[in-house]
Amino acid sequence: SEKTIVKDLAERIGVEPNEIIMKLVNLGIMAAVNQEIDFDTVEIIAEEYGIKAIKETIEEEEEEDEDILEQIVDNPEDLVKRAPIVTVMGHVDHGKTSLLDAIRKTKVTAGEAGGITQHIGASEVKINGEKIVFLDTPGHEAFTTLRARGAEITDIAILVVAADDGVMPQTIEAINHAKAAEVPLIVAVNKIDKPNANPDRVKQELAEHGVLIEEWGGDVVSVSVSALKGEGIDQLLEMIILVSEMQELKANPNRPAIGTIIESELNKGRGPVATVIVQTGTLSVGDSVVAGHTHGRIRAMINDKGERVTKVGPSSAVEIQGLSDVPEAGDRFQIVKDDKTARKIAERRQQKIREKNLKSSQRVSLEDLFEQI
Ligand code: GDP
Ligand code: MG
Repeated sequence: SEKTIVKDLAERIGVEPNEIIMKLVNLGIMAAVNQEIDFDTVEIIAEEYGIKAIKETIEEEEEEDEDILEQIVDNPEDLVKRAPIVTVMGHVDHGKTSLLDAIRKTKVTAGEAGGITQHIGASEVKINGEKIVFLDTPGHEAFTTLRARGAEITDIAILVVAADDGVMPQTIEAINHAKAAEVPLIVAVNKIDKPNANPDRVKQELAEHGVLIEEWGGDVVSVSVSALKGEGIDQLLEMIILVSEMQELKANPNRPAIGTIIESELNKGRGPVATVIVQTGTLSVGDSVVAGHTHGRIRAMINDKGERVTKVGPSSAVEIQGLSDVPEAGDRFQIVKDDKTARKIAERRQQKIREKNLKSSQRVSLEDLFEQI
């Protein structure tokens, strides 16, 4: 917008709004505190204070890249069952990390004993021969973005609520995320080992926020767990399988892979590395790929156990090497027909990013609206 509110203008200049209003009156403009004034007027007023006003240009949002990339179009007869992709959500300290650890621990096989070190931002576990893929909630600033984007690839969200603390702000945020993404929830009432645990209160509070569990006549599955003691973990995993079976999750393994980047970094020895969730199709070493603004040919793939693999199908998490640059978490990932196509698409996207950056550097926020002469 090219309009500025009188009050904001006064604040930026560092004077009382009344002073600005008086100056406006002198210009023949009758304006109230919350009224908008146009840039030309702002410029005149600012000049009186020895300040040069800079025009704020807010560009239209870039149109979505119309890529020539293939869409997920599959014949129903090509589809086969795939494993659920699960995200763990919840308020800080309610036990998300502990729960993922407990899940990994329960499912660790003899050969992996002591090898529960997490290699990539996702883990695969098997219960009664059925695979479940868990996306690991990242910490810090990446958290919100990835969770928001993560919802797009998530089939089921586990909502962890500490039984001694109840529904908290990030619990509500998680509920809203899951609702917006239309991802079914399974509630894990955690820390039931604690003396002051009150699972009933949790259920009541959830009901107040529109999450009605089965016990309460709703359709949301709830499981009581203690991530610390490893209690209720098997039951939770069984519930995940049950809920995923109702979703009839399917994918086509016989097509080039499409997926999403869930984390990435520039590794000193290995160059750009990224963890991708393959959502449909098969990904093999040697494939030409595009991931966001990056491209490359898959040089190596490492699974969540730290093992090298050469081929993975739908609902798999692997770390890939061979990209030209570091993609962003949330970027779409796709096999293309050859290196040349991959490079061309990536370069076009890089160009778009450069154009966008140029525009946003011209865009000036209210903070920067004025420059002292
Ligand atoms: P996050 O922030 O949601 O990832 O929570 P964490 O997994 O880091 O757990 C926060 C704290 O709660 C840690 O001190 C855990 O040891 C503790 N905690 C997690 N689960 C349980 C549980 O089932 N019982 C008890 N008593 N403590 C737990
Ligand atoms: Mg954590």
